[in-house]
Amino acid sequence: MNVEPSVRVEDKLYYNRYLVDIGQPHVKVRAHTTPSAELLALLKVCPARCYELNDNGQVEVTVDGCIECGTCRVIAEPTGDIQWSHPRGGYGVLFKFG
Ligand code: SF4
Repeated sequence: MNVEPSVRVEDKLYYNRYLVDIGQPHVKVRAHTTPSAELLALLKVCPARCYELNDNGQVEVTVDGCIECGTCRVIAEPTGDIQWSHPRGGYGVLFKFG
């Protein structure tokens, strides 16, 4: 039995294009020493894998590949762990079908 998915998310994300608003990220992680449970959850739930642990065990975000799905916003904005806003006009993800 073949258990490989017929379409991988990574393959679809490849078709997207991004215009990065350098110096003005639309998602920011609140400064912390030890990540909250919500921040740690973002490491697993972000479909674009924008969240990573740095060498100090803190959660960082790189918004370059963000598809603006809002998942992290639902989980971690109410707790104050992140600040989330839409990118400025003309910046952010450009969805393509493929
Ligand atoms: S909006 Fe979605 S893709 Fe963007 S950082 Fe949050 S979870 Fe990841």
